[in-house]
Amino acid sequence: MKKYILLWVLMSLWCVPVWGLAPTNTPAPVKNVIWVIADGMGPEIMGFFMEGVRYANLEGYPEHVSSMEKMIQQGTQGLFFNKTYDTIVTDSAASGTQMATGQYSRPDYIGIDYNQNKVQTILELAQEKGKSIGVISDAYVTDATPAAFTAHVRSRRMKEQIAEQQIELGVDVISGGGLKYFNKDLLAKAKAKGYTLVKNRTELAKVKQGKLLALFSETGMPMAIEMYKHPNTPVLAEQTQKALELLEQNPEGFFLMVEAGKVDWAAHANDPGSLLAEMKVLDATLKTVMEYADQHPNTLVYLNADHDTGLGSFVYQYLNSQKVAEKTKQGEVLYNGNTAYHPLSRYKELEKQKRSLYYVSQELYATPDSMLTRDYVERRLGETMGMQVDLSGIQDFKDIDGVLKYINKQRGFAWATGTHSAAPIIGVAYGPHAELFSGVYHNTDIFPRMKKALGWE
Ligand SMILES: [Zn+2]
Repeated sequence: MKKYILLWVLMSLWCVPVWGLAPTNTPAPVKNVIWVIADGMGPEIMGFFMEGVRYANLEGYPEHVSSMEKMIQQGTQGLFFNKTYDTIVTDSAASGTQMATGQYSRPDYIGIDYNQNKVQTILELAQEKGKSIGVISDAYVTDATPAAFTAHVRSRRMKEQIAEQQIELGVDVISGGGLKYFNKDLLAKAKAKGYTLVKNRTELAKVKQGKLLALFSETGMPMAIEMYKHPNTPVLAEQTQKALELLEQNPEGFFLMVEAGKVDWAAHANDPGSLLAEMKVLDATLKTVMEYADQHPNTLVYLNADHDTGLGSFVYQYLNSQKVAEKTKQGEVLYNGNTAYHPLSRYKELEKQKRSLYYVSQELYATPDSMLTRDYVERRLGETMGMQVDLSGIQDFKDIDGVLKYINKQRGFAWATGTHSAAPIIGVAYGPHAELFSGVYHNTDIFPRMKKALGWE
């Protein structure tokens, strides 16, 4: 008997390290996935935000480190392209569809490939595998990005049909704006399917289990910079926290898509102050999901964007534009003594901004021409910017676009466009299997990589 015990002990000593080595090189498949998509967040926007946190003393970052920076430092990064089937630049619908299904699509298409065939999304697959699923947006839930994960329609504008399909699919958590797109019948149907409908922060806090349909505004949720006017509307991190609380009750795990949807809107409006506010909202959400992943090590977090919007950045400016125009005509570029370089304190000016430039510009467009004097426009924009505005260089105060460009120039900011660009996008993965998301890839390659991380192939 003693001999056998000795043999057993020897075997154990020999086997343990061998067992320890071989299979643990590959971590077990992940149980939960949290995919954060910052709509419109090109690499220059990530840089704009992280640089401000690091060097410009932005409010809310006493240690001068953003969660985004932490995620990049501790995770894995890759660079990817987002061309559609036959266009260089994408919209959110095609990009969302390509990311959610792994198939090439076309602008305006939701959940269908370029031949208009319905294709299964990663969320539908996760549901089939027994996981709970959720979509969150701080824009509205039938917007192109959440729609691409949960619906199949010919056009992103078919918002009522998208809402119907989301309820039909039985997405466990649907949270964001867009109440308008859920008619009475659909809300009744949702109730019959076990959904709790909530419309504000107080009601959201009370939900402890079951399916959630949270619709905090008729259409898009308020811009981050104007959220102070809506004290009972939850921010993206709160929506995410509640979704995690509900979804994690499934022992099979969950797949949650979170969209920071208004990074895109701020960039479309060429509004750096608003953009900074939206990026802070995103960063607080990243903090929430990284903390969750740290406490639940079988959780993979992936952060990316669907495309870049605006190609906006701080730039330096020429002081004598007449001279510059003459020289550049001759193929020469001026450097010495003709340029203004902006200080980092420009960031602090952006933090003073109190309203979305887009909303204010809409109001100014609706103002009768006779009222659009220098005094009036300076006062309105001054209130928006939270500081005095000098429009001495402006001749035509009815040209609101021109005025806004001038304001951006004063702030040291330039935008290439009010639309999307083809800039490549940075994807950051955090948690087990993060290495799958390194390298250079295309947005249709994300789907198979997700499947691999989840052990589905
Ligand atoms: Zn987009």
